[in-house]
Amino acid sequence: MLQRNLRSHSVDRIGFIGLGRMGRPMATNLQTKGFQLTVHDLVEPPMRALEQRGATLARSAAEVARASDVVITMLPNSPEVEATVLGPGGVLENGRKGMLVMDMSTVAPDATDRLAKALAAKGLRFVDAPVGRQAQHADRGESLFMVGAEASDLERVQPLLAAMGTTVIHCGPPGAGIRMKIVNNYLVLVACQMNAEALTLGAKLGLPVERMLEVFNGTTATNGHLKMGWPAKVLAGDIEPGFTIELAYKDLSLGVEAAGKAGVPVFVGAAARECLGQARRVGDFAAKDMSALLDVTALAAGIKPPRLG
Ligand code: NAD
Repeated sequence: MLQRNLRSHSVDRIGFIGLGRMGRPMATNLQTKGFQLTVHDLVEPPMRALEQRGATLARSAAEVARASDVVITMLPNSPEVEATVLGPGGVLENGRKGMLVMDMSTVAPDATDRLAKALAAKGLRFVDAPVGRQAQHADRGESLFMVGAEASDLERVQPLLAAMGTTVIHCGPPGAGIRMKIVNNYLVLVACQMNAEALTLGAKLGLPVERMLEVFNGTTATNGHLKMGWPAKVLAGDIEPGFTIELAYKDLSLGVEAAGKAGVPVFVGAAARECLGQARRVGDFAAKDMSALLDVTALAAGIKPPRLG
């Protein structure tokens, strides 16, 4: 395994910043495929776990930059990514010509453009490769990547993407990947709010959740979360993330804001964004899996959340 990696990528040393629900399994999959990593996060446990598997632990983004040729970031949102890459003591300040930064977080397209521009000005390369599918896919190395990159940079990161996922879609030059991701999640998240409303309505009208799934998933009413995600998460009583309502609200906000800037009316999306905004203020739901939108809706409807079994 290691030999295969050394042959295909003889020189690149890999840095990984952001070892949360997504970053940790992605970094672990890189290790499993033989890549040597330098890792950093604000919290200790995921760094220690990767260190035990052979990674070098770094105490700052600067340390990662100095030890790496390719730096991957998997952070919550634009401010964290911009601070880590462009801020004082960040990757740019401690990087060098020819180094490549690959941001895999979901951020605002404007932030991605600022990263690409600032890095290019100093002779560094930039790829945006946000991640599709769910956390469980990242665990199994089965993610889909939407890539914005020049062709030669894509070729350089291809072995890394192949170690973390199964599907790589080249969307265009830098910035195209994040734009694709935001439009993709717009569709996903609006559908999830509809799932929450439809399942709650059905439950309140006395329909068994098993029969609802059978019908909805057997007709054109279905969508990925209703078919694959929700039966294993909220409908099975598991609302631990996964993908939090807080991050879902952030993503749908990015979509609605991008639409506002582009002059595209998104009536349904704007309403769904308000629902997510409301849900993140109920109890501790902000930190729960986004499928728990169902529980927030059921709570508002005054019924017990629908569950399978
Ligand atoms: P997370 O909150 O679980 O992880 C974020 C990690 O970043 C945490 O470990 C945190 O400590 C670390 N961090 C924050 N600021 C930092 C800094 N300045 N320096 C170093 N580390 C820092 O989030 P996640 O679910 O892993 O998501 C990461 C990104 O991927 C987000 O943009 C999210 O929208 C996107 N995404 C998530 C999923 C999913 O299913 N969870 C799927 C696709 C894409």
